[in-house]
Amino acid sequence: MEKLRVELGERSYEILIDRGNLSLIGERLLRFSIGKKVALISNPKIFELYGEKVISSLKNEGFDAYVVLIPDGELYKDYFWAYHILTQLLEAGFDRRSSLIALGGGVIGDITGFVASIYMRGIPYIQIPTTLLAQVDSSVGGKTAVNHSLGKNMIGSFWQPSLVWIDVDTLDTLPEREFISGLSEVIKYGIIWDSAFFEFLETNREKILRKEKEILIQIIKRACEIKAEVVSKDERESSLRAILNYGHTIGHALETLTGYRSYLHGEAISIGMVYEAKLSGMLGFLDRGTLERIKNILKNFGLPINLPLNVDSSAMIKTILLDKKNIEGKLRMVIPEAIGKMKINFEISEEDLKKVLNE
Ligand code: NAD
Ligand code: MG
Repeated sequence: MEKLRVELGERSYEILIDRGNLSLIGERLLRFSIGKKVALISNPKIFELYGEKVISSLKNEGFDAYVVLIPDGELYKDYFWAYHILTQLLEAGFDRRSSLIALGGGVIGDITGFVASIYMRGIPYIQIPTTLLAQVDSSVGGKTAVNHSLGKNMIGSFWQPSLVWIDVDTLDTLPEREFISGLSEVIKYGIIWDSAFFEFLETNREKILRKEKEILIQIIKRACEIKAEVVSKDERESSLRAILNYGHTIGHALETLTGYRSYLHGEAISIGMVYEAKLSGMLGFLDRGTLERIKNILKNFGLPINLPLNVDSSAMIKTILLDKKNIEGKLRMVIPEAIGKMKINFEISEEDLKKVLNE
């Protein structure tokens, strides 16, 4: 078992990574001073695969385990379904010492964290992420959210989990495309923070794509360590945490313009990272060879690296200017200067952006 800690003073917590540990969660929870009532939040697909293991582990240790399922998909990460979960908790008599467990991908993790943050002004929750994206990104760091019809993740809070419990065996059932998409965020950590990790990913591509468990545990651990380090230094994104947004300015615009239907998140971010790296190259910061390495690693892992021909650059620019990461109308981005070294909050002109998008 691999273990690390997210240092946030009294809000610190552990991330535990292993294989086959789903059925040990009940035992682990005995260490926390929480009440007997625990609700497992999931969707029918994931619950069918892994729900029973978690529930029986909780029951074995004497917890009153409840289950609240919401439909599968980003569409249901909204206020209505958050309200539904709140209603179930009230009806079951949950109090301020009761807790929630998110069993699923980022959608389940985000809505569960959000509900935990507002139920009776905040109750503990545990993340059991079951997608690679959730294991290396969304389950760590305490950003919670639901979507509004006028914008994604627009309603939310910062609310840290009490524990992140990762079982890499859950990745066996994850669709291949979702797995590859999650690798995009893993590669991002190498680019923004750690050139040795980037090289490790380049070297071990085949083992990773074969989902060899020991190597998966290693890369998930390193990814979480990097996110934990960044979040510990800047929990609420006043500056440094913004480096996690590398690839996301252009990536988000692409997701928006394609109606969230053509690309999985990691795929759009892969394209975003390539164009934001090109921008850095164009401005004279990133050398040609490094740009090629970034493109190659993404391509070799099976990720897309080119903008689709049917997306028009002026629509992209309009969307990018609406991004919530901009401040006072100025377009700011995180761009790489080298592997492991970023320029944060770098002001980009509309003209340069246009040039790179039309390349
Ligand atoms: P997801 O939660 O929709 O999961 C993807 C699909 O895989 C779903 O159909 C799900 O049911 C299925 N699935 C999950 N685990 C499975 C398993 N082990 N086996 C088989 N199928 C499985 O998508 P995601 O990519 O995990 O998360 C995306 C969400 O995360 C978005 O809403 C995004 O906004 C959010 N997010 C949040 C943060 C954060 O910091 N809070 C960071 C990144 C992303
Ligand atoms: Mg992301």
